[in-house]
Amino acid sequence: VLRWFDAHCQGSKQLAERACAVIPGGVQHNLSFNHPFPLAMSRADGPYLTDVDGNRYIDFLQAGGPTLLGSNPAAVREPVKALLDHCGPVTGLLHEYEVKLAELVCRHMPGVEMIRLLGSGTEAVMGAVRLARTVTRRQRVIKIGGAYHGWSDQLVYGMRLPKTGRMEATGIPRGATAHTQECLPNDPEALRRLLRWNRLRGGTAAVILEPLGPESGTRPVHRNFNAQVRALCDEFGALLIFDEVVTGFRAGMGGAQGYFGVTPDLTVLGKCLTGGYPMAGAIGGRRELMMSLVGGIGSTTRRAFVGGTLSANPLTCVAGYHALLETERTHAPAVAGRAGDRLRRGLDEIIQRRGLPYVAYNMGSVVHLQTSGVLLLDTSSLWKLIKVKAEAQRRKHMMEEMGAAYTAHGIVSVAGSRFYTSLADTDAVIDDALHRFDDV
Ligand code: PMP
Repeated sequence: VLRWFDAHCQGSKQLAERACAVIPGGVQHNLSFNHPFPLAMSRADGPYLTDVDGNRYIDFLQAGGPTLLGSNPAAVREPVKALLDHCGPVTGLLHEYEVKLAELVCRHMPGVEMIRLLGSGTEAVMGAVRLARTVTRRQRVIKIGGAYHGWSDQLVYGMRLPKTGRMEATGIPRGATAHTQECLPNDPEALRRLLRWNRLRGGTAAVILEPLGPESGTRPVHRNFNAQVRALCDEFGALLIFDEVVTGFRAGMGGAQGYFGVTPDLTVLGKCLTGGYPMAGAIGGRRELMMSLVGGIGSTTRRAFVGGTLSANPLTCVAGYHALLETERTHAPAVAGRAGDRLRRGLDEIIQRRGLPYVAYNMGSVVHLQTSGVLLLDTSSLWKLIKVKAEAQRRKHMMEEMGAAYTAHGIVSVAGSRFYTSLADTDAVIDDALHRFDDV
């Protein structure tokens, strides 16, 4: 595999070396830490990426999830160009596309009556948590262990690394996570105990979760887990926040909340919301909750302050509006979901035929391929979870090496273990990919 990279990716290698001199680690985005070095892409088109050396890859990375329509669809690109021609990217004042995008989201998402656009999923999570604390006048927020909700101080990975005891993310003052609690997935009884404990100590502002399970299904949850959490939130008066950064418009036009039939109080959106164009982040929710975001400069009413110079700029909004229109028109969630089913069935077949210790599973267009042990590991106590973490770390490294092997066979993925499918993934593309998997 390493020989393949040396023989075929000299352009990328040279660019990566230049990058290392001026960019920490040579990459600006944590998904680009490819093994053995980051590949530099020069073209993106439908289901394919092409690197600076002319190698073409089937794109199951999808920039981490936003390009559900495939790369660079004309239906989004052309209106963006037209807007840039007559308006440019920003005015700082209201724009028609801001309203059109908001109306479209509110029409489709069951839990979204109003929406506030922000700069990223991370910002939107921070805003949603702040809003929940404002409305409930409580402090504590419970997350489901192992979930990724962006990199804010209060919610970034909080686990201590096995052996060293170091935090996975450093530079976070103890106080910043003082009101963040973790609860294991698939354990409603543990969540109930935590909510009960909190009730005697000021209560719980919100429970935040990824509806497919932590790390968007890397640790899958039972089908009724979201409904169980909903019921517990109602019982204890905590708000339920769905982090739909991955699932919003990918699981369906109504997101995972539409898919599972569980409506959260607040919804966090990102990624597919703007079809891969910058500034993808939004808080949505019930009207009376969202109204706590109102208030101009100098306002004295009680409100949660969120902001952003470029939030809801016309460029983001025109892209988002047309991306979502196209998603609706083409039934992209369902089409990409069928491609995901086909990919998973094919992977299953390879695993069975070759007797590999892997498991493939998917929820529509989110396909996971992992060493099977991870799912069998017992996470019923914190101590066991720490052991699981050590094991998961080892397997993660192994999956990254597999990721490099996939890349050398023309497939890019999320760290070798997650594969997003898109509208552009025809049967022929998926079958081509399966041949490559089989070779690996
Ligand atoms: N929540 C989830 C579930 C995510 O997957 C991500 C990004 N991978 C985020 C939040 C953070 O979004 P962003 O990268 O736009 O800040």
